[in-house]
Amino acid sequence: MSKSKLLVIAIIAAAITAFFVFDLKQYISLDYFQAQREAINATVATDPLRAGLLFFAIYTVATGLSLPGAAVLTLIAGAVFGLLWGTVIVSFASTIGATLAFLTSRFLLRDWVQQRFGDKLRPINEGVAREGAFYLFALRLVPVFPFVAINLLMGLTPIRTRTYFWVSQLGMFAGTIVYVYAGTQLGQFRVSPGLIGAFVLLGIFPLIAKKTLDTIKARKVYAAWKRPATFDRNLVVIGGGSAGLVSAYIAAAVKAKVALVEKHKMGGDCLNTGCVPSKALIKSAKLVATMKHATDYGLKNAQLDFDFAEVMERVQRVVGEIEPHDSIERYTKLGVECLTGEAKITTPWSVEITTAGGKQTLTTRGIIIAAGARPFVPPIPGIEETGFLTSDTLWDLRQLPKRLLVLGGGPIGCELTQCFARLGSQVTQVEMLPRLMIREDPEISDLVMQKFRAEGVNVLVNHKAQRFAIENGEKVLYCEHGGEAVRVEFDTLLCAVGRVANTTGYGLEELGIPVTKARTVEVNEFMQTKYPNILACGDVAGPYQFTHTAAHTAWYAAVNGLFSGYKKFRADFSVIPWATFTDPEVARVGLNETEAKEKNIPYEVTTYGIDDLDRAIADGNAHGLVKVLTVPGKDKILGATIAGEHAGDLITEFVSAMKHGIGLNKILGTIHIYPTMAEANKYVAGNWKRNHAPKGLLEWVEKFHAWRRG
Ligand SMILES: Cc1cc2nc3c(=O)[nH]c(=O)nc-3n(C[C@H](O)[C@H](O)[C@H](O)COP(=O)(O)OP(=O)(O)OC[C@H]3O[C@@H](n4cnc5c(N)ncnc54)[C@H](O)[C@@H]3O)c2cc1C
Repeated sequence: MSKSKLLVIAIIAAAITAFFVFDLKQYISLDYFQAQREAINATVATDPLRAGLLFFAIYTVATGLSLPGAAVLTLIAGAVFGLLWGTVIVSFASTIGATLAFLTSRFLLRDWVQQRFGDKLRPINEGVAREGAFYLFALRLVPVFPFVAINLLMGLTPIRTRTYFWVSQLGMFAGTIVYVYAGTQLGQFRVSPGLIGAFVLLGIFPLIAKKTLDTIKARKVYAAWKRPATFDRNLVVIGGGSAGLVSAYIAAAVKAKVALVEKHKMGGDCLNTGCVPSKALIKSAKLVATMKHATDYGLKNAQLDFDFAEVMERVQRVVGEIEPHDSIERYTKLGVECLTGEAKITTPWSVEITTAGGKQTLTTRGIIIAAGARPFVPPIPGIEETGFLTSDTLWDLRQLPKRLLVLGGGPIGCELTQCFARLGSQVTQVEMLPRLMIREDPEISDLVMQKFRAEGVNVLVNHKAQRFAIENGEKVLYCEHGGEAVRVEFDTLLCAVGRVANTTGYGLEELGIPVTKARTVEVNEFMQTKYPNILACGDVAGPYQFTHTAAHTAWYAAVNGLFSGYKKFRADFSVIPWATFTDPEVARVGLNETEAKEKNIPYEVTTYGIDDLDRAIADGNAHGLVKVLTVPGKDKILGATIAGEHAGDLITEFVSAMKHGIGLNKILGTIHIYPTMAEANKYVAGNWKRNHAPKGLLEWVEKFHAWRRG
């Protein structure tokens, strides 16, 4: 470290040490001031200029050294110098002091911090370079942000000193006036309107400042656009999938004028290519698997004869049966104006809709983006030549693939792998990570993998797909596994390596609405994009990609889109459940063990093996487990995972418990019908109770019973 730095550190350390050792803090206190008030007033009256300069110097040094007491000094300034001069002195002294602290932090720490944490700080540096003045102004305006922390932290960023000075002076000005004014009321021992006004101002100033700031921010975002004087609609929703339908429904239910634009099929992915068809296919495949084990159930000669095309036709029939739930007719009756066409946001308040009949533009107060996601196809060499299916195109298949290669070991890949294996395809599933369903705990992944292998699936984990080729008319995939090349022959490829949000082609680029690293539309905790009246929900916004989370985020988007000027609701992601409908089914809510370890959260684990459950044994489904994480020593649930039959239904008890703060003791104290799978939840709670039995007390009770026996 350079000599000059050491010198500065020594001076600061000496000054701070003196402050505390000599208890100088007592002089920066209201008690001291009140005690000395008359003497101070007399001094000021004799030589106001000298007194003013002395106070200015004390204030500057105290804030420059980041000593505590700036708020008290401001109040004293008001009491001694009055509103006008108090404000002038404090405004300049605080800004100079703040700038000294800022420069000190910059001189001593900036290079070191930037060297060490440069990578992590890059986004902050870029943000400060772009909008530093605005953010500093925001921080200064709202006095709840600590003055000292702002000085020291801003010194570490690339903001220019000149900018820092004037923005600080301007940003703190309103707060300074309020505090100085409160100071002018000091010592008024009767309740005067001025005193009440001062307290009210101190209380509501941060709120007013925040509101002002929001308005400034909003103005800045909208500055380039011309706002219409009136609007055709309250809300225009882009996309008629789970998220769009729910948000449009909510808007209509609260009597807003809402238009829903869908370019393809109402119901989106869930109804047409996702949850519904996959669950219908899973049911048929499960029936096939059960029939193959008919003798396990005491049945002889159960004839299994089916045609894959008919199975797929049934899938479409199921989709057709559910279709009315999401239909234009239903939503029109509910009060939603349904438009079939492609939407494009043209300004923050207008959406252009291209329909078969031409183009129309609707002006609207709010816009909800619910444009969903699509299967991601990785750019692996040769993939276009061999051809592939995705969850979008799979449902047109009418001939069972003989050798199916499933790329991807996530939920969609796993559900479809098992279906096709059960229906008779030879399935190879390739996953580059060390296990299937990587978000779940290793033993859960293992349960699924063991079952898949037992059912004849060739599961290849730790295999990285490198290239596809057609060799002698055979489609092949080359993967890398432990440094070796592995060759897999196949007839049909199903690509299930994840889904990517639809964020292009409908106006986001033109409006400069940013996307996140995960390539979803960037939204704040209110589901608002950078334009507060444009919101996003469902798969396009994430962070989860499920139908129930699409509906959940849609509620926030709709309500905040319609009422945010008056009341806003923060999206609550604290208790999010999900399930993968493999056999065994896997369902989860909250933390699992892997995440608890990663996040360093203390936990206890309690498990219950479903192989011991009466109903599971009776049904021939005696496999799986319930695994619950709790706060050590308490019954508070941190998370639960269930693997086994109907896990997706069983998890609901833990979802409710977590949502409403119910612990394992209460689950244990709840009557569960016998014999049901749901009893597994009670038994895991029972295991927890047994592990926490009061051993000392029980020894005494044992003695008590012995004594009673005589
Ligand atoms: C095989 C599979 C199985 C799944 N299983 C489950 C499950 O069991 N449980 C579960 O919870 N989730 C499941 N999912 C996920 C679930 O389907 C999605 O999370 C859900 O559909 C997301 O809904 P959304 O409204 O956000 O998007 P989408 O349903 O994709 O809807 C978006 C809609 O927007 C329309 N659109 C896009 N751009 C425009 C535009 N410019 N103008 C007009 N319209 C536009 C699209 O045509 C589409 O209809 C599954 C998904 C797949 C693929």
